[in-house]
Amino acid sequence: MITDDLRLVDQHCHGVVQQDLDRLGFETLLTEGSVPRNPFNSMLGLAVRRWCAPQLDLPPHATAEQYLARREEWGWRRVSAHLLGSAGVGTWLLDTGIGVLTEPTAFAELAGGSAHEVLRLETVAEQVAAAGVSATEFAVAVEEALRERIATGVVGLKSIVAYRTGLELPAEPPAEEEVRAAAGAWLRWGGSRLDSRVLLSWLVHLGARLGAEYGLPLQLHTGFGDEDLRLHRADPALLSDFLAATRSSGVTIALLHCWPFHRNAAYLAHVFPHVLVDVGLAVPYVGDRCGVVLAELLELAPFDSVCFSSDGYGLPELHHLGALLWRRGVGRLIDSWVAEGTMTTADAERVVTGFAAVNVSRVYGLNVVV
Ligand SMILES: [Zn+2]
Repeated sequence: MITDDLRLVDQHCHGVVQQDLDRLGFETLLTEGSVPRNPFNSMLGLAVRRWCAPQLDLPPHATAEQYLARREEWGWRRVSAHLLGSAGVGTWLLDTGIGVLTEPTAFAELAGGSAHEVLRLETVAEQVAAAGVSATEFAVAVEEALRERIATGVVGLKSIVAYRTGLELPAEPPAEEEVRAAAGAWLRWGGSRLDSRVLLSWLVHLGARLGAEYGLPLQLHTGFGDEDLRLHRADPALLSDFLAATRSSGVTIALLHCWPFHRNAAYLAHVFPHVLVDVGLAVPYVGDRCGVVLAELLELAPFDSVCFSSDGYGLPELHHLGALLWRRGVGRLIDSWVAEGTMTTADAERVVTGFAAVNVSRVYGLNVVV
């Protein structure tokens, strides 16, 4: 396949769990549901047995019991090093918003390649509140905290506003007085989980402004995710006003995941020149159907807007399958287009290296050899 030897840049993933897991612990991380519903009996489960089992020196399609027994025998560190190290990914961009997983330095030691931090806006705002701040100081304190963290070398910013109040963001940030009043109300209630529509709108606009100033893309979770989400509020089409308002600001907006709204996301990338798209998370979860999802994304998404991400989280199987299934899906699709005369081999090579690494490296300013 044309994608066989490509070294990928994973635009968005998380660290891995640093402990051995029992069956329930493993299956809880192999589903987006809060209660696992036999995830081995799904497209993702099939892919684990088909593709990850041979990586652990088991035959393809080993049973779930055999797989988990081998995992226990090897231990989390050896399993993680093996699955991450064989994924063909040279650069990982890690969302560090969830503290218990491996941080970028430890992750790079396990996985090989280099790992960079993507900073989650909501986590910083919640940390500022937890440290104690008045409503009057809140906006300035959050901006200062973000600038301090940016100075440590983060390569991108991220918001999970889709999980909180949804993606229907206003074109303009809320006024200062409105932010102060909302901060007062939120802080009075303890200031833990940031779920104020006003503060989140303000925060995402702040992220876009700082992103433009520092040349950092702003990643937005869109589409499916865990049960905390309300799917109808995570449709990237809801971002239309925000994208229209930021199109000339200099910031790049990366729409992560997108499924099942990946066609809507493709349209947004088509009309807004500052939009990147990927179908991370969906790639491991839809398993062998990944080529279909990618083909739908490519119906309208300009080729220089498409990136790869795994959204691997907790289990190194998800990072490994994200890369493997993506490579297989894109490879089969593009190989068929070359065979049918839809595109030349030279075009195909340019396009797949763009998806794999060039597009993301250009926008994030990464120095990557494909
Ligand atoms: Zn994620």
